[in-house]
Amino acid sequence: MILDVSKGLRMPGEEIPFLVEGELDPQDVMGETVEFPDKVTLEGRYSVTGVNTIVVEGELTAVARGKCSRCLNPVDFPVRVPFSEAFVTGEATDDAEQFSYEGSKLDLSLLALTLAVLELPIRFLCREDCLGLCPKCGKNLNEGSCSCEIDEDDENPMSVLRKLLKNNEEV
Ligand SMILES: [Zn+2]
Ligand SMILES: [Zn+2]
Repeated sequence: MILDVSKGLRMPGEEIPFLVEGELDPQDVMGETVEFPDKVTLEGRYSVTGVNTIVVEGELTAVARGKCSRCLNPVDFPVRVPFSEAFVTGEATDDAEQFSYEGSKLDLSLLALTLAVLELPIRFLCREDCLGLCPKCGKNLNEGSCSCEIDEDDENPMSVLRKLLKNNEEV
């Protein structure tokens, strides 16, 4: 995802509109693979604000595809995140926190990846009230119930606690 800034370098201080599209590789996020099936877009303006500095601001648009944490079906999560970052070149690049550029080419891939990953939900859900899978037979309960008998006492941590309390009372 390369932004050619040669126009801006000829016109320091001018805000130049840009649109860059690209693809992001699947990422391992907390042990789950997250894919970006569509093109990722960065759109906004950049300006050369100093001898060594270019400020890039705008909005990233992407679609992140993960697995529902309850039923494991794929879920598409739209990502839209504003950004404003300074890119530096030359001696200023010693600061590892900074994004850097060489010549008239700005590589926006790392910025795009950082923005997209930070914006991901802690866990994907296909819908708020997803019923998940039956812990016994694995059936997707959103598609209907199964005939398994779930032992409430095994499944519900509260009932285990209740049992413990009851035992204590009897002592
Ligand atoms: Zn689900
Ligand atoms: Zn079942």
